[in-house]
Amino acid sequence: MSKQAKIRVTVWNEFRHEKKNETVKKLYPKGMHAVIAAGLAKNKDMAVRTATLDEPEHGLTEAVLRQTDVLTWWGHTAHREVQDEIVRRVQKHVLEGMGLIVLHSGHFSKIFKTLMGTNCSLKWREEAEKERLWVVERSHPIAEGLGEHFELPHTEMYGERFDIPKPDELVFVSWFEGGEVFRSGCCWQRGHGRVFYFRPGHETYPIFFDKNVRKVLTNAVRWARPRMRLADACPNVKPLETLSPKGAAFGKAGVLQDSDGKAVRKGRRGR
Ligand code: ZN
Repeated sequence: MSKQAKIRVTVWNEFRHEKKNETVKKLYPKGMHAVIAAGLAKNKDMAVRTATLDEPEHGLTEAVLRQTDVLTWWGHTAHREVQDEIVRRVQKHVLEGMGLIVLHSGHFSKIFKTLMGTNCSLKWREEAEKERLWVVERSHPIAEGLGEHFELPHTEMYGERFDIPKPDELVFVSWFEGGEVFRSGCCWQRGHGRVFYFRPGHETYPIFFDKNVRKVLTNAVRWARPRMRLADACPNVKPLETLSPKGAAFGKAGVLQDSDGKAVRKGRRGR
């Protein structure tokens, strides 16, 4: 991959709340994916496309995923409608090196649960309370350009315990007006791919217009970009060096041999 190549981002959205709920429709008339994509497209090093649940194959065909360096995922009300075959396809691409950024209620998506192997459950409350995101790894690439913390004035609360495997790196910890805390920016490696979970993104608040959220998403895309893409294989291989002969009987039950393949003792080890 040349240094000049743009990062190919696919922004995936369930795109259901925006069609049914007036508040969400007003905030995101063309869908959250359009706003997330527009934010990312401001970066000259990114080529951004979108995909949604109701498109054939959820917009995530093999060809699209092969041309995707980083996939972002927003889902909530229709996790169960995502076909298992597409989930397996996305998982395969992550294991081969594609980056995945899971947003907000995507914590319960099939793909996130598959990659984590845990329930991914948490506490929640929808009271439009303040969230303060503490940057706990300021030197991490995903925290570039952020201060010690930033705030979102109105959010849905997510609280611990968040049932995830221990993150490889924890970048953000959130505090909420109601007193809870939450691991809100978590990194994992799965196979050759990088996975980032980012908590903010509730559909009834203008979260994806927030400049700090947009900065995090930009940084996360750059961080999750594949270093290599490596298809899975489990080959039976020839040795690199010449092996000494082991003799036909080597490994047979009850026969111990020296390096020339000569039987040294038969049966049980004596005392
Ligand atoms: Zn929510």
